[in-house]
Amino acid sequence: MGKRGSQKPAPKKKPQKLETTFTCPFCQRADGVECSIDLKLRIAVATCWACEETYATKAHSLTEPLDVYSEWIDECEKANQEDHMEID
Ligand SMILES: [Zn+2]
Repeated sequence: MGKRGSQKPAPKKKPQKLETTFTCPFCQRADGVECSIDLKLRIAVATCWACEETYATKAHSLTEPLDVYSEWIDECEKANQEDHMEID
């Protein structure tokens, strides 16, 4: 990210392997979260093997693991904001 200089332009686009592991928003374990998408059930699940937090959401044919993960992060942030909201 943001580093310049040493990056060579790739001669050909290789089919990139989709990232399916991410940093856990709960225990901060790098690659702790794995996303799996079940298109038959139209369900996507992200699970951290380290702290066993899980997030499940709906999936469709264009859902990517990163989408599931970002949604999870969004949900976490929302939950955090609600926690910090003081209601009198
Ligand atoms: Zn975790």
